[in-house]
Amino acid sequence: DRPARDRALPVLQAAHRAAGALSPPVLAYVSERTRLPLAHLTALVTFYEELTIDPGGRPVLRVCDDVACRLGGRAERVLAAARASGRFTVHPTACLGACDRGPAALLEGELVAPVDPEALPDPNSVGDPSRRAPGGARHGWLPGHAPRLLRRCGQVDPESAEAYRAAGGFRGLERALAMDPDAVIAAVREAGLLGRGGAAFPTGAKWEAARRAPGQPKYVVVNADESEPGAYTNRKLLEEDPFAVLEGMLIAAHAVGASRGYVYVRGEYALATRRVERALAALRRLGWLGPDALGHGRPFDVELRRGAGAYVCGEETALFASIEGYRGEPRPKPPFPTTHGLFGKPTVVQNVETLACVTLILAEGPDGFRAAQPKLFSVSGHVRRPGVYEVPLGTPLRRLLEDCAGGVEGELQAVLIGGAAGMFLRPDQIDVPLDHEPLRAAGATLGAGAVLVLNHTVDLWRDVALRVARFFADESCGQCVPCRIGTARQLERVAAMAGRGGRSDDLAVLEQLGAVMADASICGLGQSASWAVLSLARQFGLPAAPAAPAEGGKER
Ligand code: SF4
Repeated sequence: DRPARDRALPVLQAAHRAAGALSPPVLAYVSERTRLPLAHLTALVTFYEELTIDPGGRPVLRVCDDVACRLGGRAERVLAAARASGRFTVHPTACLGACDRGPAALLEGELVAPVDPEALPDPNSVGDPSRRAPGGARHGWLPGHAPRLLRRCGQVDPESAEAYRAAGGFRGLERALAMDPDAVIAAVREAGLLGRGGAAFPTGAKWEAARRAPGQPKYVVVNADESEPGAYTNRKLLEEDPFAVLEGMLIAAHAVGASRGYVYVRGEYALATRRVERALAALRRLGWLGPDALGHGRPFDVELRRGAGAYVCGEETALFASIEGYRGEPRPKPPFPTTHGLFGKPTVVQNVETLACVTLILAEGPDGFRAAQPKLFSVSGHVRRPGVYEVPLGTPLRRLLEDCAGGVEGELQAVLIGGAAGMFLRPDQIDVPLDHEPLRAAGATLGAGAVLVLNHTVDLWRDVALRVARFFADESCGQCVPCRIGTARQLERVAAMAGRGGRSDDLAVLEQLGAVMADASICGLGQSASWAVLSLARQFGLPAAPAAPAEGGKER
């Protein structure tokens, strides 16, 4: 009869959906029914953006005003038209992961993309499944290389386990279950798989540590809280090949001896959530989930959780806190999740693409994977065909842009690689191989595979750096001083530079802020919050002073 603290977020999400807004009486009712203190529920509501929205009786339209959707003033036009219409409660929001189809918005949680400011979505279409945007970003692969991670996307019914099996699915899992768990881990190690979420930690080493860690139960968690601006590769896999991700999760559970799992899907990914939900139901029907799912006499079942609009929950310990029913605030490491993860137990937490790679490794064998590792990139901005592309790791950036994404529109000025926590490359660097070491040598990072192409029309400081600085100031969870204050001071300084142009002391100040945030922040958000701004300053110099207004003209 304990209050179920770990149900707090799903209960609040349900109450928000049912009541429209989490007003004090609604919260008091939830508190009474769950026996969770009102103070705790209030702490959650004030943390998650989705829960703070009060629709005021009108459908909620959350309009992406992140870098890709703002190019050419598109997001501003949508925001202005939506506000002028008076038909919606309008909220600007960070990247919705639909950069290939921007400008993007969510109408009552369902994606609308692209949004035409002259023909805004019909508020009466809310709840009508036939009016929902079709899933599936445009995708492709490098000519001459058969796709492996994307091979079923758009080809196989993502809701049918039978279709998945007919297209080669479950082969990896069946092989893994016939192997000793240690042999499965050895295969993943031999394949040389590094986590695809950005940290690039060796997957096999992580599994080994969790397997050896004392303590039960053990957990496997799929981190599907893809929120890095410009990243939408995970959305692609979850919407169009969810069984491949869940198969990788089952392989991980077998390898580490887990008996419980969670899939934490970004709250803004409605279609992906439905697809994962249906895939889990199908796996349950087939007996792949349940009391003796993996043939060990041990249960393995999976719960689906939805995020609620907090970028920081993509950080693994923040994600655990969110599942456990707390504010999604990161925890210091060590101890690491492999020994003290979800609910303090040994946990393997993996990114979506990493698990799809695991499925491939067990199906193909580690040697083939190691010889040519597939990698997904989401390309957006000034290219002719933005979308998700699969290329072998190490492919030159130029080939991704020209042979996959159709080439640059206009004159290339810069590429921001890795999202908001990314770094800029100059046009003379686009032959860099897309792999960890060469990118590091070029002063960049692979991150989660987000590639934003910017042509000569973009003001890199005013259109990009300022938005990135605002993003980090907004998304800092605020629990540690270097990040809370550092991201605010960084935003102030970048805004000042955008207004007056760069000054000789600006770079030193930004570097100092960056060093303090990198050294003393608890989590990756604070540690990486200065990367894009500093890389822009180093690669392209400080912003020029804005042109003086012409005589009799108006200042912008
Ligand atoms: Fe929160 Fe920032 Fe500290 Fe991370 S670094 S815990 S986001 S305040």
